[in-house]
Amino acid sequence: MYEKYFVGPERRERRSVEEVLDLFPKLAFDAERADEDREHTPHLLERLSLFAAYVEGHTPEPFVWDRRASEVVAPHPVYRDEAYRRGDLRDLPTLDRARLRRTQRPFDPEAAGATSVYENRTSGTSGAPLTIYYSPEHMARSLHLSLPMAAVRAGIRGLGARPVFSVLVTDNPALPHGALLPTPWELSGHRLIWHVDTADPASVDDLDTMLRLLTPEVISSKPNLFRILLEHWERAGVPAAPGPLFLASGGAMLPDRTRERLRAVFSCPVLSVYSTGEASYLGSECALGTMHLNEALHEHFESVPLEDPATGEEGLGELALTSLGNTYMPLVRYRVGDTVRLSRDTCACGAPGPVLDELRGRTTLVFDLGDGHMLSPTRYMDLFKNHSELREYQLVQRTPRSFLVRIDLIPGTPSDGREAACVRVRDAIASGMPVEAEVAWEESTLETEGTKFARFRSEVTA
Ligand SMILES: [Zn+2]
Repeated sequence: MYEKYFVGPERRERRSVEEVLDLFPKLAFDAERADEDREHTPHLLERLSLFAAYVEGHTPEPFVWDRRASEVVAPHPVYRDEAYRRGDLRDLPTLDRARLRRTQRPFDPEAAGATSVYENRTSGTSGAPLTIYYSPEHMARSLHLSLPMAAVRAGIRGLGARPVFSVLVTDNPALPHGALLPTPWELSGHRLIWHVDTADPASVDDLDTMLRLLTPEVISSKPNLFRILLEHWERAGVPAAPGPLFLASGGAMLPDRTRERLRAVFSCPVLSVYSTGEASYLGSECALGTMHLNEALHEHFESVPLEDPATGEEGLGELALTSLGNTYMPLVRYRVGDTVRLSRDTCACGAPGPVLDELRGRTTLVFDLGDGHMLSPTRYMDLFKNHSELREYQLVQRTPRSFLVRIDLIPGTPSDGREAACVRVRDAIASGMPVEAEVAWEESTLETEGTKFARFRSEVTA
C-alpha cells in the first residue's frame, strides 16, 4: 500500500555510512543499533503498509477491551486493579502522570518478557520527566516510522530517492555532535540528528553546509527552533537545492505565522507532527491541514473530561490514549496532558478515524531578548539530567533581559544542600543565555500536574 509514495530502486541514490561519516566525522554512529533496526525491517514495512491502508480508507475494527488486551497489561503493577481483567474500556480508570509517579515501578518490562529494554526519559515538555520503557520493536517504530507515516498521511510522493531521508535539527545539548541513524530498509535513505547552537553563528553556518551537501528530503525540528532559524534563513537564503519535500514540526503547536514563513522560505508543505515520548507518533496533518490521529497503530483515542472542568468550554476534553503495541509499557486510557476537541466526523480529505479540531497546550515560546537575540528554552532540556535534585522549574521572563527561575527540588534534598543546588540550576540557566541577562531565583513548590503548567513564561508583551 505504501509503495506509491516511494520511488523505485532505479531512482534511488545511496551513500554508505562511511561516506557520510567521512563528510561529518563527529556524528555519533551506533553500529549495533543499526543491526538491530535492520532486523525489524519486515515489521516496519508491515506497519507502514497497515498505516497506508488506514489512510486510504480501510477502517480497522473498533477496539474492544478483550482477553488479549487484559493479558498485555497483566504483568504491570499499575494495572493490578481487578477492573482490567474484565469489563469495558469505558469503565476502566484513566491513567495520568501523577499516578505513574506515585506508583513504585509502575511498569515491569521483565515480567512482560523483556530481554532488552530501552529506557529513556520523556523530554519533560509537559510536566517533570518520566522514565519510559521501549521494546526493541517500539524503538524501531519510533525511530523510523514517524516521518514516513507523516508523509503518507499528507499524500507526499517521490520519497526515498536521495541518500539522506531526514534531518532532525535539535538544540538539545545532550547530543552535541548529532548522530547518524542509517537506513534500516531500502525504501528511504539515512536519518540524521543534527545539533545546532543558535547562539553561535558558526554552528548555524555548519547546519547550512550540511543541508547543502546532503539535501535531505525532510527537515524536522521544533517550532521555537524553526522560528530562530527563520531569522537567519530569511536573511541568508535557502540553504539547500534541491530543497526538502516537506518540513515536519513537532513537540509543540506550530504557530500559523511560523508555518507561513517556513513555506515562503522552502516552498514546500509544512506538517505538524503530534507525538509524545511515551507513545511516539500519535498523528499528523493531512494535505488539508487537519490533525489526524493514528488508530491504525494505536488502539484507541478518546476525549475524557478535564480534571478541572470549570476551565473548559463545551466540547473540550483531555486526550486519552490506549496503546498496547509497546508491551513493555502499555498505555490504557492514558491522559496525554493536552486539551483537545476530538471529532469522529470524516475529514474532507476522506480519511476515516479521529481528528483533532483543536489542540491546546503545548506551545513552546521563544524568549525575545531584544536587538535580534532569541533564546530557545529547549536548550535547557538537559537540566534534569545534569541536576538530579531538580524536580521541576519555571523560567519567567520579567523584562527582555531579566528572568526569575522558580526551583522545585525533589523531596528529601537535605536542607544544607538546597541553596547550593538552586544556585547550580540558576547558573546553568544563566550560562545558556545568548547575551548577558539577569537571572534571579527562588525556591518554590510548583503545581505541575494537569494541562495548565507552563515551564516557560514571558511577562513581556510584544
Ligand atoms: Zn484530512
